[in-house]
Amino acid sequence: MHIAFFTMPAHGHVNPVLGIVGELVARGHRVSYGTTSTFADRVTQAGATAVRYDSLLPDDSDPDSRWPEDLDSVGKLLVAESRQAYPQMAAAFADDLPDIAVGEDLFGGGMLMSAVRGIPRVPVWPYFAAHSDGPIPEGAFTPYDDWLIELGLGKADEYVWRALDGGLVLLAREFQPAGDTFGEKFHFVGPCLTDRAFQGDWPDSPDDRPLLYVSLGTGFNDRPDFYRTCFAAFGGLPWRVVISVGQWVDIAALGTPPANVELHRHVPQLKVLERADMFLTHAGMGSTQEALYFGVPTVAVPQSADQPANAARLAELGLGVHLDPATVTAAELREAVLAVHGDPEMAERLAVLKAATRSAGGAQRAADIIEAAAQQ
Ligand code: UDP
Repeated sequence: MHIAFFTMPAHGHVNPVLGIVGELVARGHRVSYGTTSTFADRVTQAGATAVRYDSLLPDDSDPDSRWPEDLDSVGKLLVAESRQAYPQMAAAFADDLPDIAVGEDLFGGGMLMSAVRGIPRVPVWPYFAAHSDGPIPEGAFTPYDDWLIELGLGKADEYVWRALDGGLVLLAREFQPAGDTFGEKFHFVGPCLTDRAFQGDWPDSPDDRPLLYVSLGTGFNDRPDFYRTCFAAFGGLPWRVVISVGQWVDIAALGTPPANVELHRHVPQLKVLERADMFLTHAGMGSTQEALYFGVPTVAVPQSADQPANAARLAELGLGVHLDPATVTAAELREAVLAVHGDPEMAERLAVLKAATRSAGGAQRAADIIEAAAQQ
């Protein structure tokens, strides 16, 4: 079978499906993955054929590109991206149509191409799922209306709810707010993690000190003040502190970090989390699920997008602490980390969620569902 994957070309969108790609390839399927040059290596390593396109979205390879800070501008950028990617994907797949398309980015070029060509699609939710009576306000997608009408797909809201009637949700049902209100078309398969050979290793070393891992993810991470606050919060503590600062921040301008703090542009996060005692995180859903998979407690300082909702859910379930990034101080950060580290009840709750996260079925169940959908 020929299976195509289409996700936004960003770490938090590509990484979560790599395990599914690998599982489908291991089963003998041919997998194509529409993506940019930046992510071609990792999808190829997972066993897919990268079908490249040029994107307008911020990209690691361009130090001047950034996500706009206001959501309105993000929305406009995404509509422009959709118009830019669609013709490229339509041309690339014209003579080699997939039997089924899998992806989270319903307005991305590949998923739109699949809709126009009538190819069955399996939606993926690498974030909280929603149903049509859920929290997404009516009209949320109207900026796409003109474009979708041009493509003959009708108004954007209708297109979305037609397409989003179920799919693969990459979290345990227990983590989904109102999880029991989602019907049988929603498959809560949990995170589908896999080895990330493309990331190489990190300078781990035998160390008796507890390990605090700090990352604001890969999108909204150019936050020099936050990193300096971390220096003040954790400098001198008997902890090893590993900070992934991302691709953009000017490291020299941060000043000298305290002796127990290491700065990296990017780390192999799964390897670090496997060893970490605590995760100070922006609570992107990828990082959130990875923390739960390893049972690591979180102190969350959400920056944008769905991160505040994820952080609130972690706190609601007693799996971490949620702090306000606008006002957070070094003293608050330090207190939160030390309090969470010494909390045996939180550790018990984390063990329960970790078990649920690991027993949700993962990539194998996801692959079963994709195979079944293709045969319908
Ligand atoms: N990541 C990583 N190393 C880093 C920082 C991030 O491997 O130094 C990975 C992380 O494991 C996750 C993804 O990048 O898979 C980030 O996704 P998330 O949804 O957490 O946040 P986003 O970057 O989309 O805001």
